[in-house]
Amino acid sequence: MKKETLFISDLHLGSTRPEITQRFLRFLEHRMRSVERLYVLGDLFDAYLGDDDNASPNREVKSAFKQLTESGTEVHFQHGNRDFLLGGRFARETGVNLLGDYEVIYLYGVPTLITHGDLLCTDDFQYQKARERVRTEEWKQAALSKPLWLRRLYARWYRFKSSLDKRGKTAEIMDVNPATVKETMLRYGVDRLIHGHTHRPAVHELEIENKQCRRFVLPEWGKNETVLCWNQEGFHTEVIGY
Ligand code: MN
Repeated sequence: MKKETLFISDLHLGSTRPEITQRFLRFLEHRMRSVERLYVLGDLFDAYLGDDDNASPNREVKSAFKQLTESGTEVHFQHGNRDFLLGGRFARETGVNLLGDYEVIYLYGVPTLITHGDLLCTDDFQYQKARERVRTEEWKQAALSKPLWLRRLYARWYRFKSSLDKRGKTAEIMDVNPATVKETMLRYGVDRLIHGHTHRPAVHELEIENKQCRRFVLPEWGKNETVLCWNQEGFHTEVIGY
């Protein structure tokens, strides 16, 4: 097996974009076979209503992950703001390892902080407040105890509301806050950060306390199906053309 680690995020898989799901499944089947580890940094699903939801694309994605982890590839998952209800049953059914909001991983010897990215958008007070509220165990349990049809209805309403909310927000508010990025990287003692969420793919160079640091931002799929690939020698990005 090739020593290689891949990063993806923000695929926003859902029943309205079956072509992206198909591309992702082909990617797992053809590209991932030779890879040691896959990190999914959140928003794999555009809406995730609970592990009991086996509608498409959840069903297909689960069985593809199961095959992949059984073949020896590690799959690690961080929650995004769209799929934070993904839980232990998904992990048990697929062999996928669930990670916390911030994790430091050793990427070929270099400590690297990974996160979905929404926590870094601290200029968006309204979002951060709502996030705090819905991420408590009580809120999640209450949500998951509702029948699936009601959760579906609620998700539709939520998407509508969030599209209205976004209209009043500037591009800056919806990006990461530079001071939060620096503080967070210092707190975790890393000079490398990988995240998604903002849909602004880039490799940013920044200086933190006289150290050259790098922040990798992953793209959203649908516009730009790109994976970030790391090995001993370094990194490259790869466009998924399947
Ligand atoms: Mn997101």
